[in-house]
Amino acid sequence: MRVLVIEDEKRVAGFMRRSLSEAGYAVDCAYDGEEGLHFAQTTIYDVIILDLMLPKRDGLSLLKSLREGGGAAPVLAVTAKGTVRDRVTGLNSGCDDYLVKPFSIAELIARVRALLRRGSPQTATLHIGDLVLDTTAHRVTRAGRPIELTPKEFALLEYLMRNAGQVLTKTMIEQHVWNYDFDSGTNLVEVHLSHLRAKIDQGLHPPLIETVRGVGYLLKEVPAASPCESHRRISASG
Ligand code: CA
Repeated sequence: MRVLVIEDEKRVAGFMRRSLSEAGYAVDCAYDGEEGLHFAQTTIYDVIILDLMLPKRDGLSLLKSLREGGGAAPVLAVTAKGTVRDRVTGLNSGCDDYLVKPFSIAELIARVRALLRRGSPQTATLHIGDLVLDTTAHRVTRAGRPIELTPKEFALLEYLMRNAGQVLTKTMIEQHVWNYDFDSGTNLVEVHLSHLRAKIDQGLHPPLIETVRGVGYLLKEVPAASPCESHRRISASG
């Protein structure tokens, strides 16, 4: 999931970037309203965090231009203004939620998750066969056994699971799971996918991650296993 932070206070932006990256999101930062609008109009983001008081172009005017141009990404407005009137203005201008500074990082991440769930028919827990990914608890299990993933592997798996049954190209994966600091000349996608595949599929049937030669990758769409089926499989494999 890719997040854009538009915030002119470098310290606050850096803090949000670090915390969101640790939570597994790919984060880009823009430091004024014009740069922010440019990023938002040229890249597909899953959530945009928008400070309302910005140099060059203020947050509400940025939001208006973004919405007029068809930009539909959920927007979490962040501001020091906390009066009821300001909140109403913000919500009427097309932002989806509102966070008043100072805020805790736990609250920021909870709001981002809530917006991701609202943006598309997304649920907190994803199931593919006997593979289960819990986005809230940040936990993955297969056939009932916990699997330890790095934040990047987790983000990669979440993206694959949300798009199960579709072939995802390396570029699509890069755009959703990495940020602009990512050098697309590298083979990081392949490396992370092979690590992920080793953790998810090794010794288990059916293998879920498929390579579509010359095109990309696919997470097979298999119906969610019922709890007793998973249990039987564990018993059968000893
Ligand atoms: Ca500001």
